Amino acid sequence: MTLPLLPDRDCGGCVECCRFIPLDLPELAKPTGELCAYCVDGAGCGVHAIRPQTCRTWFCVWRMVELSEDWRPDRSGIIVRPDGLTTGEITLYVIRDTDFLGSTDFFDTLAGWIDNGIALALSRPGPLGTLPVRAMVTEYLGPALAAGDRPMFDLLLRNALDSLDGHDWESDGITARYTVHGAV
Ligand code: SF4
Ligand code: SF4
Repeated sequence: MTLPLLPDRDCGGCVECCRFIPLDLPELAKPTGELCAYCVDGAGCGVHAIRPQTCRTWFCVWRMVELSEDWRPDRSGIIVRPDGLTTGEITLYVIRDTDFLGSTDFFDTLAGWIDNGIALALSRPGPLGTLPVRAMVTEYLGPALAAGDRPMFDLLLRNALDSLDGHDWESDGITARYTVHGAV
């Protein structure tokens, strides 16, 4: 189950899911962190008309929820994953560190989610071809968000991301394969 897409929003130049979401389909296998060979960086899918079904149905939360333009994943460095959304859980897949992590927009949005009882998780990609790591952080970050304590939140967020970055990365076991029918 997912939410409908916002009618007035498109991906624009963002291609981050085509880079950071692993695919292991019969016709398209792509290790985590590898930009899909069918993707034109900054432009979008080069096989749009014949792209796999998974690519037709997977969208990040920025395409579904009225987050600001600054939340677009290639600008914010955050892919808000759709899994868990309808059951009160949000996963922030922080693909790179950006100034957006220090923005009021970011803090206020997370504080609003916490205030509404939404559970928060952080996820990070590792080196190319390794499984992303994920951890629940509701109890770790929630009190600072609820208290409006920005310095404490910044400190804890940094600690959480650094801790995830120190993870013992495992291979995602995906060997690249690009055989979408009709694509060259
Ligand atoms: S991460 Fe979201 S905005 Fe970016 S290309 Fe994928 S669906 Fe579009
Ligand atoms: S086939 Fe197209 S939509 Fe699917 S991952 Fe590759 S570039 Fe992205």
